Amino acid sequence: MSSQSPCHRCGASHMVKNGSKDGQPRWVCRNCKRSFSPTLGTAMDRLRNTPTEVECVLKVKNFLPMLRALACS
Ligand SMILES: [Zn+2]
Repeated sequence: MSSQSPCHRCGASHMVKNGSKDGQPRWVCRNCKRSFSPTLGTAMDRLRNTPTEVECVLKVKNFLPMLRALACS
């Protein structure tokens, strides 16, 4: 089992360890020189890849004042 995942940016598997930050190892892609933390590619990437989820949250937020107005009337 390997903890080394391919680059989230370019997909290259030339990742090298580059110290650590906040107790988590940092990885740097030798191909595109991007640095990553292990948490990247999970929550943040999913958020970026599914704008519909964000749109949905925004819609609900816009809807809240209306619901509140209905509840108070
Ligand atoms: Zn890369």
